[in-house]
Amino acid sequence: MKNRRPSILLIYTGGTIGMKQDPDTLALVPFNFAQIEQEVPELKKFGYAIDFHSFDPLIDSSNVTPQLWIELAELVRENYVRYDGFVVLHGTDTMAYSASALSFMLENLEKPVVFTGSQLPIGMLRTDGKENLISSIEIAAAMDGNGRAVVPEVCVYFETKLYRGNRTSKYNAENFRAFQSANYPVLADVGIHIKFNRQNISYPEIWGRELKIHTALDTNVAILKLFPGMRKEVVESVLGAEGLKAVIIETFGSGNAPTQSWFTEAMKQGVERGLVILNVTQCQAGSVDMDAYETGVALKRAGVTGGRDMTTEAALVKLFFLLGQYSETEKVNEFLVKNLRGEITAC
Ligand code: ASP
Repeated sequence: MKNRRPSILLIYTGGTIGMKQDPDTLALVPFNFAQIEQEVPELKKFGYAIDFHSFDPLIDSSNVTPQLWIELAELVRENYVRYDGFVVLHGTDTMAYSASALSFMLENLEKPVVFTGSQLPIGMLRTDGKENLISSIEIAAAMDGNGRAVVPEVCVYFETKLYRGNRTSKYNAENFRAFQSANYPVLADVGIHIKFNRQNISYPEIWGRELKIHTALDTNVAILKLFPGMRKEVVESVLGAEGLKAVIIETFGSGNAPTQSWFTEAMKQGVERGLVILNVTQCQAGSVDMDAYETGVALKRAGVTGGRDMTTEAALVKLFFLLGQYSETEKVNEFLVKNLRGEITAC
């Protein structure tokens, strides 16, 4: 078992990492992924069995839809037995959404699914893509003495840090450190050695369960970011959108919203009409606590559910996932506050 050559499936969905500069026009164009070993000759030095799968067409991640997540989940399932780990090359813009989505869609995951990308194309001299790619492959291949994955999670690797996927947000459009996981510690730090922080990694209680994928996603969800001066008509038109089943309200601080009666009333009526209303904070770090201030208590009384320390990205796709599973509002609310894939810190 120990000496077996690890096998990795490298999946390219699109994004900056797979681009190079056209020598004539200097414009960035995707390179033929079949020739990745020419671009990254270091891959041959691994001694791993690495296979490649490229999406066609390639997708700038701003164009990602749940269809891509379904295709990715199916690809992982079809290849689950053959490979020890999966590395997904993805644009950075919506990587946190995709990694969060896959974490819910893949149940009983026992193998790494590592998302990575880059700020500069792999075909450019100063690229961050090579290190991101090479370390991601090494992480996806890491096994313990029993042949079990060291990181059996959906994660994001970027600029020397391995994060739990559903805890990440893209927070920097310029810096090589593009992601943060403000409410959960890193799963690994990469320096001279890869230091896995096993106490932060989630392991199956029982190994050997069959991988299940969930592809029913219901996108009838809206996000309403609160701001001082927000008009009643805007709130009402969002909450009244046809077919809407859930609204995430991005509130101030630890889950606070205006206490004007029209606002509280709009929330209350939304809940009474069967909407799930989930409260997450606009702050980058910290948690919603609707008991801390009167402005939060009013929301709680109106029937709003507290999303504690979930990122907006994780909250959104968790709603897609739960609405795809359950038609009863109570069930969705019940599971929203439960920790399903390490996305929320228990009270
Ligand atoms: N627009 C690109 C994308 O998200 C940026 C990137 O890859 O970083 O696909």
